[in-house]
Amino acid sequence: MRLPLLNIPAERPAGFDTGPRSIRAVRVLRISVTDRCNFRCVYCMPEEGVRWLEKDDLLSFEEVVEVARAAAEVHGIRRFKLTGGEPTVRRGLVDLVSMLRRSVDVEDLSLTTNGMLLEELAAPLKDAGLDRLTVSIDSLRTDRFRRITRTGDLATVLRGMDRAAAVGFNGLKVNCVTMRGVNDDEFADFARLTLQRPLTVRFIEYMPLGDAAVSGQCSTREVDESEIGPAGGCGAQDRGEDVFVPEPEVREAIEADLGPLVPVEQDSEPGVGPAIVYRLREGNPAGRVGFISAMSSPFCSTCNRLRLTATGVLRSCLFEGGEVDLKPLLRQGTHQHDDRRQSLADAMTECVRLKPDVHGARGSEQMSRIGG
Ligand code: SAM
Repeated sequence: MRLPLLNIPAERPAGFDTGPRSIRAVRVLRISVTDRCNFRCVYCMPEEGVRWLEKDDLLSFEEVVEVARAAAEVHGIRRFKLTGGEPTVRRGLVDLVSMLRRSVDVEDLSLTTNGMLLEELAAPLKDAGLDRLTVSIDSLRTDRFRRITRTGDLATVLRGMDRAAAVGFNGLKVNCVTMRGVNDDEFADFARLTLQRPLTVRFIEYMPLGDAAVSGQCSTREVDESEIGPAGGCGAQDRGEDVFVPEPEVREAIEADLGPLVPVEQDSEPGVGPAIVYRLREGNPAGRVGFISAMSSPFCSTCNRLRLTATGVLRSCLFEGGEVDLKPLLRQGTHQHDDRRQSLADAMTECVRLKPDVHGARGSEQMSRIGG
């Protein structure tokens, strides 16, 4: 069957089939299970939400498992990250975790969440076989957290994290998107969390993606300028590049308050993500501080992931590059199981060849659709 390739770059990048464009380099499949979210983070979604996908357009859990099996059995990709939108709002997520555990030879199964539903879901997710959790938090101040997420409640998220730790999720990660005028006075506070708790706090550079890169969506919203910055608007979504805080500035702010950060052996960090990890030298820290700096130091040459959107499109890059639609393969009834597994695996090989040399300055697609 011919592969349904989408958005193929006009010129194929050089180095075809080598380095990160080789399927052998892929170690993680990120699986988005929904485009929906119970937050409306100012840098990610307009207040009124976006037009949600139709239910029939989403891959079923059986289809997700089939893709994961093909990845594991044919290519040895055995690390999976569930994402969204907000993955916990997809009904039956716990069942999906069980199904992946039962049917796929999984080495590492993790989830990234905004944490709002974690208090009730942490135990069932653990029981179903989830290995690791990342929780996204952009402010440690209740009011500000609410303003950034528009619908979130910090105390609920923190209780969810406590519950996750209590039921045995070790090595929790916290993702914080660094944004000028939004949370740039809190970097040391985030790093301070690692003094007491065995967390890895990871600072993520803001990436201009999809509508988050352009203005307009919510400029009529009332904003507190002292909180979200001199450029006004409703936050990062309206302010494009001036919201960007490069990693060295974040490190400087942390070190000014808490002393030097010293490098940590990368292999000792759970997962195989792109974060460069440190720990505070002083204060006998229990946790670590990581940086994911896709804008100031793109890590495309060591990229080791593919992304599956909730609608079954395999995406080679968060920012751009080629896509391959797996849905026609999955929904074509006449295919024998083994043929289909091979076709899915071939689609992965084809997709990874479409990775750009280095991603561009702006991403073409909304983060909530791709899943980070
Ligand atoms: N809802 C889940 C969560 O909160 O982790 C999973 C999806 S969310 C899109 C994944 C991560 O992407 C979150 O940590 C979020 O803060 C981050 N993110 C969203 N838009 C971003 C942007 N424009 N730049 C950098 N990170 C972004």
